[in-house]
Amino acid sequence: MEWTPEAEAAVKKVPFFVRKKVRRRVESEASEAGKTIVGLADVNATQKRYLSKMASEIKGYLLDACFGPSGCPNRTNAADTLVERLEVCLREADLLTFLKREVGENLKFHHEFRVTVAECPNACSQPQIKDLGIIGASVPAFTDEPCSGCEACTEACPDDAITLGEDEAPPVIDGNRCLVCGKCIGVCPTHTLTEGQSGYCVLLGGKLGRHPRLAESLPGVFTEDEVLAILSACLDFYKHTSRGGKRFADILGPDDFQRFVERFGKLKAQSSKLKGGRGKGTGFGCRIRGKS
Ligand code: SF4
Ligand code: SF4
Ligand code: SF4
Repeated sequence: MEWTPEAEAAVKKVPFFVRKKVRRRVESEASEAGKTIVGLADVNATQKRYLSKMASEIKGYLLDACFGPSGCPNRTNAADTLVERLEVCLREADLLTFLKREVGENLKFHHEFRVTVAECPNACSQPQIKDLGIIGASVPAFTDEPCSGCEACTEACPDDAITLGEDEAPPVIDGNRCLVCGKCIGVCPTHTLTEGQSGYCVLLGGKLGRHPRLAESLPGVFTEDEVLAILSACLDFYKHTSRGGKRFADILGPDDFQRFVERFGKLKAQSSKLKGGRGKGTGFGCRIRGKS
């Protein structure tokens, strides 16, 4: 739906953590009223209604995703079933009852447990500042097909992670640079490069606010079932440990994070494949800067 510049400017002033909801609500209400263009009056009317009953909109968690499903060419894999299953898991955890007990009448949107799915490492939905951030991953691997040295993969790689070998030797992918976006795979004309694994990188414990911190990446690339298991473990930890509405990021100490790494991390298994080359897989993907 089209927005006037005044309406766009007005919605940008809405606090970021409810902006998407307000935007969706404005479009829905304008559409129901038979409008094709959203104007300033529509934004003001919806915002007033929405903020006046904000408390009833709080559900204890906020799950969102990037715009990959609307046709973004960068998505590494379709996370449709993952998002649905995350929603079920979050709903069943009944975080609203937990938060009402812990926070009482002062419960606000910023207390909610936040989860997001970005379907590629461009990370448009900001997984680095969510309690649980999930990023689509497509891990390149090498087949036995000879490399022609065409350089299509090095040109396609946004992270300069691929070095071609001499005299038709297979390329090498630097696992410390590769963000497992999969862009090199589709461009390889000889099928020397293929998809070795598809799944998700998982980040834990990001937030903004007075004491912001970036989420830390669990080493490895995870299947959908594994992501669900990680979420479930995070929710258990959160409900057992958080008191008075403290965010997951505030209670996740280095020792706690290490326990998640020991339980779910795949560093050892995947770092053994780092050399690349014919017949090998590549690195373990996401190198998103964690907290210092
Ligand atoms: S995160 Fe990637 S797939 Fe999702 S909208 Fe952004 S560029 Fe597209
Ligand atoms: S998957 Fe890795 S090597 Fe391939 S294009 Fe993406 S960052 Fe580069
Ligand atoms: S791996 Fe594929 S894309 Fe890369 S140089 Fe060799 S043939 Fe070309």
